[in-house]
Amino acid sequence: MNIDTLHGGDSGAANERIAILGAGASGLALGWLLSQAGKQVTVFEAAPRIGGLARTFDWRGIPCDIAPHRLHTSDLEVLSAVQALVPLREHRRVSRILMRDKQIQDPINPIELMLRFPPRTAFALVWGFLNRPKLPETSFESLALNRYGRGLYDFFFEPYTKKMFGVPPAEISVTWGREKLRSSGLLDVLKRQSKTFFSTFWYPERGGYQAILDAMQAQIRGEVLLGAPVTGLELGDGRITAVHYRRDGAAQRFDCDRVFSTLPATVLGRMLGAELKLRFKRIQLVYLDIAKPEVMPYQWVYFGDGDVVINRMAEFKHFHPHLPPCDHSVLCAEVTMDSDHAEADVIAALTRYGLIRREDILDSLVLEEGCGYPVYDRGFEAARDQAQALFGRYANLHCVGRNAEFRHIETDEDIASAADCLRRIYGTETVRLPA
Ligand SMILES: Cc1cc2nc3c(=O)[nH]c(=O)nc-3n(C[C@H](O)[C@H](O)[C@H](O)COP(=O)(O)OP(=O)(O)OC[C@H]3O[C@@H](n4cnc5c(N)ncnc54)[C@H](O)[C@@H]3O)c2cc1C
Repeated sequence: MNIDTLHGGDSGAANERIAILGAGASGLALGWLLSQAGKQVTVFEAAPRIGGLARTFDWRGIPCDIAPHRLHTSDLEVLSAVQALVPLREHRRVSRILMRDKQIQDPINPIELMLRFPPRTAFALVWGFLNRPKLPETSFESLALNRYGRGLYDFFFEPYTKKMFGVPPAEISVTWGREKLRSSGLLDVLKRQSKTFFSTFWYPERGGYQAILDAMQAQIRGEVLLGAPVTGLELGDGRITAVHYRRDGAAQRFDCDRVFSTLPATVLGRMLGAELKLRFKRIQLVYLDIAKPEVMPYQWVYFGDGDVVINRMAEFKHFHPHLPPCDHSVLCAEVTMDSDHAEADVIAALTRYGLIRREDILDSLVLEEGCGYPVYDRGFEAARDQAQALFGRYANLHCVGRNAEFRHIETDEDIASAADCLRRIYGTETVRLPA
C-alpha cells in the first residue's frame, strides 16, 4: 500500500514551489525525476550529508555502507535508469548462514541440513515438512508453519524473526511474511527463484552504494539544503502552505505549493499533530577493522542462532574488487536485538565462530539508526490506514519511500514509488525514467 494522498486532477502550476523533505534515496530520486521533468525543487536534509540509510562513508580507507547494500531488482525500468546514472558491476552473490557453529548454504537448502545436522534435527525437518499444517494464516508464525513445517520453523524462522523484530513470530503480521517470503515453499527455496533469493546483484563500479545517490543529486535542478532539519509545517485550507526549518541556528520558512515527504511516517504524523502507533526497529551497526587481508570469503553472512546478537555481517572489501590490496579488512555487523553493549556482544559472537581474534581488532565504530526496519506487528495495518487518512487530508502532500510509506522496501522500490507518485500527479508523458 502506498501512502499517497493525491487523488488526481492537480497537476500543478509550471513554476510551482516544490519542497522535498529528506535527502535519502527517495528524496533524491524524487528530486532527480522532477528535474528530468523540468521542475525546480528544494530538498531539506537534517543531516550534514545526503544518503540517509543508503549512505556511504570512508572509514579506515574502505568505503562502508549501512550494512550491505545491494541493488537486486526485478524492475527492469528501474535497473536501466540506475545503469544510465552510474556504472554498475554485476556481482555473483556469495553468502552463507551460520547456525549451530556451522556454515551452511544461503538460502537454506533442506537437503544440506539433513546431511550436515544430527539425525534428530534432520528427521524433525523432513517430518515437519511432510506434515505441514493447514493453519488459518493469521500471523507470520502460521504462514511459515504452513509453508515450511515445524522443523524448519523451529530451526531458523522462529529464532531469526524474533531476533530481528524483538517479538515472537506469532506477533508479526502475516503481511510481512507474504512480502518477505516471496516463494511459495521449499521448492522455490531450492530453485533459488524470487526477489529474496537473488543469485547476483548490482553495485556501483566505483565508490560505495551512495554513488547512485550522488549521481541523482548531481542532476537535481534546484537546491539540496544540508543541515536543514524540518521543524514543522504550516497548514491552511487542506494544504501545506509552508515548511519550517532551521539553518545555521536560525528558524527559516519556505512557502510551497507541493510537499513530498520521505521522513518516517511517525515524524510527519507528529508535525501534523498525531501520535501514530507505528513502530520502527532500531538497528545498531558495529564496524570492526581487522588486521587480516580477508576475514571470510563471503560478501555477507546471516547468523541464525537466537543467542547470537548479530543478524547479518558484511565484509566490504568483497564489494570493491578495484581497491588496491591492503592488509586489513572492515566488517559491519547488524544488531537489532536490544543490547547496551553491542560491540562486546558482536566481538564475542565472532570469536565464538572463529572468524576473528580479539588481538586482530585494529579499530571499531558503532552507529545507530532509530528507524532501521518498519515493524509489521499484528494490527499495524490499522495504524498505517490511520496514517494514510491523516496525510490524505492535505491535497498537496505526498509520502514516498520505505519509512514514509511504512513499507519494508529497498531502494529499487523507493525509486519505483517515486516514479509512480510523480506519474499520478504529472502524467506518464511528463515523468520518465531515463533508459
Ligand atoms: C540494514 C539495512 C540494509 C538494507 N539493505 C538494502 C539493500 O541491500 N539494498 C537496497 O536497495 N536497500 C537496502 N536497504 C533499504 C534502503 O536503505 C532504504 O530503502 C532507503 O535507503 C530508504 O531511503 P529513504 O530516502 O526512503 O529514507 P531514508 O534513507 O531514511 O532518508 C530519509 C532522510 O530524511 C532525513 N530526515 C529525517 N528527519 C528529518 C527532518 N526533520 N528534516 C529533514 N530531514 C530529515 C534523514 O536524515 C534521511 O537522510 C537497507 C536498509 C537497512 C536499514
